[in-house]
Amino acid sequence: MIESVKIPASLLPEDGRFGCGPSKIRPKQVKALAQAGTTLLGTSHRQSPVKHVVASIREGLADYFSIPDGWQVALGNGGASAFWEMACASLIARRGAFGSYGSFSGKFAASAAKAPFLEEPVIYKGEYGTCALPEYTEDVDVYAWAHNETSTGVMAPIRRVRGSVEQGALTLIDATSGAGGLPVDIAQTDAYYFSPQKVFGSDGGLWIAILSPDAIERAATVEQSAELEGARRWVPPFLSLTKALENSRKDQTLNTPAIGTLVLLDEQVKWLNEHGGLDWATKRCAKSAGILYSWAEQSDYATPFVKDTAIRSNVVVTIDLDESVSASAVVSALRDNGIVDTSGYRKLGRNQLRIGVFPSVKPDDVEALTHCVDYVVEHLH
Ligand SMILES: *Cc1c(COP(=O)(O)O)cnc(C)c1O
Repeated sequence: MIESVKIPASLLPEDGRFGCGPSKIRPKQVKALAQAGTTLLGTSHRQSPVKHVVASIREGLADYFSIPDGWQVALGNGGASAFWEMACASLIARRGAFGSYGSFSGKFAASAAKAPFLEEPVIYKGEYGTCALPEYTEDVDVYAWAHNETSTGVMAPIRRVRGSVEQGALTLIDATSGAGGLPVDIAQTDAYYFSPQKVFGSDGGLWIAILSPDAIERAATVEQSAELEGARRWVPPFLSLTKALENSRKDQTLNTPAIGTLVLLDEQVKWLNEHGGLDWATKRCAKSAGILYSWAEQSDYATPFVKDTAIRSNVVVTIDLDESVSASAVVSALRDNGIVDTSGYRKLGRNQLRIGVFPSVKPDDVEALTHCVDYVVEHLH
């Protein structure tokens, strides 16, 4: 039986949402959504009011990520999971090399392994809590890994594999929970893609990808080759990156998007840019993460799960608890007090807390969370 603990109001954070996606949506975003209620919601995504929002998102993200000349911001429906399939259909020519060190990075590699028209991928596998980047590999045309492995709280460096450009290979980065909260040099990537319900505090359902000229050209070539007679490859229109890009250039999506998601996203991109952009956001996330890691290091019952401090994530913090303290009891007591989504990733199966410290989360609230966890642990016993 889990006893209930009442945390004193003075200890509680102002906002109790610490999920890793969907993550906290700021009240101002909800207000923007309400304002859009009669002007944008329920209107055509092919008309200028909604297209204007898409244009604002595309320009705002181009600024935020300081994208190099020639790179394009594309978007479409289906989230990062859809982008994996799109990359299998439209970007991997024959064979990819993958870093696999957790649930999300593993899934893209698994999709590529199942695609009947692709060759067996080369997978560089790391234990949970570590990071395994792909190394130079002969005969691959794509290197892929995740900027932030959300299941384990590991952040990875984003640098092209040495020799990859010379061999004509693309670098595809799943940045779903890292994009916008971790530093990045977009020139080191050919597709830097993410969903908006993590750092960008919107709803799910969309993918956004920053594409290099090489990625754009690759998609065109691969898709043309699939049209040739006798080609074994099939690129369903929904998985055509070229079609997605054509629509994005017109500030539209291939098929109907959730307009609410666009409005929430636009508001967040503006907020981030107004506050100092990527540099500001990455420092804010690092501060929040630092509060949790130093608290855990000083605690006699909590320890950071990721041992290598260089890859400890600044956006998704994983904390192991001593076996004398049940993480699920702590998580459920926190939930009873309005502090939600602090549980570890289920498939990891550890006695762990996992906390999303995206830019929308105030560092003061993260500090308050540590006091609340201490309070709960003390009173559960
Ligand atoms: C959340 C997440 C995904 C999946 O995003 P969806 O929008 O649910 O498709 C993929 N990769 C990473 C790293 C994630 O954190």
